[in-house]
Amino acid sequence: MAKRVYLFSEGSKEDRDLLGGKGANLCEMTSLGLPVPFGFIITTDTCREFFEAGNKLPSLLEQEYRVALDLVEKRMGARFGDPENPLLFSVRSGATVSMPGMMNTILNLGLNEEITEGLARRTGNPRFAWDCYRRFIQMFASVVLDANGASFEHELERYKAAHDKKLDVDLDADDWRAVVRIYQTLADVPEDPFDQLRMAVRAVFMSWHTPRALVYREMNNIPDTLGTAVNVQAMVFGNYGEDSGSGVAFTRNPATGEHKFFGEFLFNAAGEDVVAGIRTPLPLSALEERLPAVYQQLFQTQALLEKHYRDMQDIEFTVQEGKFFMLQTRGGKRTGRASVKIAVDMVGEGLITEREALMRVSPEHVESFLHPMVDPAAKRDVIATGLPASPGGATGRVVFSAEEAQEQAEAGHAVILVRRETTPEDIHGMKVAAGILTELGGMTSHAAVVARGMGVCAITGCDGLNINVASGTATTRDGASIRRGDVITLDGNTGDVMLGDIAKVEASDSDDFQVLLSWADKYRRLKVRANAETPEDAARARELGAEGIGLCRTEHMFFAADRIDIMRAMILSETREERQGYLDQLQVFQHDDLLALFKVMDGLPVTVRLLDPPLHEFLPHTPEDIRSLAQRVNKPVAKVEEIVSGLTEVNPMLGFRGCRLSVVYPEITQMQVRAIVSAAAEAMQAGYRPMPEIMIPLVVNVREVRLVTDIIDQCVREVSSAMSVSVPYRVGTMMETPRATLGADRLAPEVEFMSFGTNDLTQMTYGFSRDDAGRFIPKYLGKKLIDVDPFVSLDERAVGRLMEIAIRESRSRKKGIKYGICGEHGGDPRSIRFCHNLGLDYVSCSPFRVPIARIAAAQANVGLVPND
Ligand code: ADP
Ligand code: MG
Ligand code: MG
Repeated sequence: MAKRVYLFSEGSKEDRDLLGGKGANLCEMTSLGLPVPFGFIITTDTCREFFEAGNKLPSLLEQEYRVALDLVEKRMGARFGDPENPLLFSVRSGATVSMPGMMNTILNLGLNEEITEGLARRTGNPRFAWDCYRRFIQMFASVVLDANGASFEHELERYKAAHDKKLDVDLDADDWRAVVRIYQTLADVPEDPFDQLRMAVRAVFMSWHTPRALVYREMNNIPDTLGTAVNVQAMVFGNYGEDSGSGVAFTRNPATGEHKFFGEFLFNAAGEDVVAGIRTPLPLSALEERLPAVYQQLFQTQALLEKHYRDMQDIEFTVQEGKFFMLQTRGGKRTGRASVKIAVDMVGEGLITEREALMRVSPEHVESFLHPMVDPAAKRDVIATGLPASPGGATGRVVFSAEEAQEQAEAGHAVILVRRETTPEDIHGMKVAAGILTELGGMTSHAAVVARGMGVCAITGCDGLNINVASGTATTRDGASIRRGDVITLDGNTGDVMLGDIAKVEASDSDDFQVLLSWADKYRRLKVRANAETPEDAARARELGAEGIGLCRTEHMFFAADRIDIMRAMILSETREERQGYLDQLQVFQHDDLLALFKVMDGLPVTVRLLDPPLHEFLPHTPEDIRSLAQRVNKPVAKVEEIVSGLTEVNPMLGFRGCRLSVVYPEITQMQVRAIVSAAAEAMQAGYRPMPEIMIPLVVNVREVRLVTDIIDQCVREVSSAMSVSVPYRVGTMMETPRATLGADRLAPEVEFMSFGTNDLTQMTYGFSRDDAGRFIPKYLGKKLIDVDPFVSLDERAVGRLMEIAIRESRSRKKGIKYGICGEHGGDPRSIRFCHNLGLDYVSCSPFRVPIARIAAAQANVGLVPND
């Protein structure tokens, strides 16, 4: 049978899984020779055994830990339950993955009245002894017996008021004895120390299931099955007197990363007082002044620990009668800025390698360099929660339309655009908004994709938000209401919608961040491109390290005010000649836009996707808009209405879009190709090196590819000879229908690249509509029907399998095809790792995700497990 109990002298930091993080580190510190009060650990295996037996302690467990306990008594020179020379224990939880403050700890265990008297006699310090006992009763009662902790606080306050005492330190031995008497009426704490111990061990196991621990695990993706270890450790006493105290410290500043030892200390206080914030702790300089030798020991210890663990440590220590004790060390939690600075500094100090530094930074850490964030310490009044669609934090006045957004923004106000959903027509409002909030839509809805592209904070799928544009109000499920003009704050990292202006931490670049990114580039194999249409976005993407454009959505170029009417007129054309006239006008715009893009992306590939959305997306739908459009294009209203309704589709996502448009309107494709090639030719004449790649969307079979390729080749020949420039170009296809992926071997001979459009591919594989999934995906997650939103993190099992088949079968038919991904997954670290392993050549993501993708790509290649 496996050993259930380990002494602190029997383990090491490698035993986290079995002994929990706290226990493993107590063992490690013990073997380093640091002054750790001795004790033993009951393993996490035992915890699982306990759960499996229906919350029953194994029958032999007590026998096993009594053996260990004997050895601890010998080492400490005191005995558990002996009034003449009592040994007290702390019983501390400690899971494999650190869950600070989430589970239970019981201190001063092993006291009853008789033993308290004995402790008072032996120490000659009755005040201390009774203080310990009252602390113990309160903790044991609330943690083990589930009593209401507040009633103890309440009684203590009453006692203090009645006896005219202000602070805890004003109470003497008799006072504490009297408080104990009152406490004893509130809870029935067992007298026998061994009963206390057994019940405490049980309570620590049970604390694995407290609601706050559950929530913490859910938030941090910690499996529910792990369980916790129990640390039973001899007590040392910071509340012994004025030459005693407790403190916590960080080996470096956890907020800034500055390499400076930093911490807090309270004299004559137990560790719980420091955390509880009853008294304001002092800086460590106070300890240095009053107990310089102790401070020296503390300073040396923290330096040693950091060097030993090769990471910033968060430590807990206690001083008893001028003697220093270590109670805990662990990798310290830190802000994004701190994590980057510490990782880079430690490479400079020779503590870790560049590869290790890369693995120490998480994507969330990187966000803080790219967007302002809602201050994690600020109080938040959450009125609704949706999907965290685009990161960052934003505050502004509520507006309900793109027009209002523009007006308010022009008047100098920050605005939050609140919509049921967004469409391409809202772009001008989205551009000026500080944040975007939508009731509908998932993580790849229009609002989400566009917001991420622009680096604007957004929350989508805020189910339960009820918007009434006419009255200028919106109500949440919980009955809160916001009105036009109210100030709200969005947290795009959590999905929280809050009332008022909540403090934010500003984004700013740093040299350390650039150094880290340069290491990422050194260690990654995957290339990183960006999804961008405008020269501004492309320039930003390039600045953030993009090595090309992986997806330029040409339709975005037709939504601008000066083009949309021409586009609409083109769509409403009734003859080919009429249509050609408008196409000629559009070609000029398209040419100019692409020329600007090719210049910005000089020397780098730009993948231009042919027109993709269904045409009705460009048309107006309200009667007024239709009427004014009819006037502008010189057609009877009835005719326009007829055409608009003729284009309406029941299921546009599966409708008349993508290369299907090229089949019906080859002249649209011709216009686009001419624009691409003439722009590239002009760029070349001006001395640039454009690298256009023409991408065919929504392909399902090879005949479509041949049809479109013929149009492309023909137009390229025409333009090249007319301009006397030979433009280098490639032709490739989106891989976004299941049929395309399963027929990739047939597509292979016709294309030079394949780009997985995993938004559509996920949509079609699941049959989950991208625009409506926001409604039910949160429920699917809540009921654990899925682990992650497949629009956020690529579904490896099915969507990933289609990709794998497509790559394998196309590659076996033709070598040298370039593979990429341009769905939103291209910016998701988990999906990036998967793409790396699949052997893709590049990922393409929104410009603001480029740095995250660079780091994720390096992490995928370095392949160590990130430190927690
Ligand atoms: P958490 O996991 O929530 O940090 P701990 O097990 O570290 O809980 O216990 C909380 C505090 O209790 C510690 O920070 C320390 O101050 C105090 N404590 C724990 N064990 C002992 C001990 N053996 N002697 C004195 N104080 C202790
Ligand atoms: Mg602790
Ligand atoms: Mg698509």
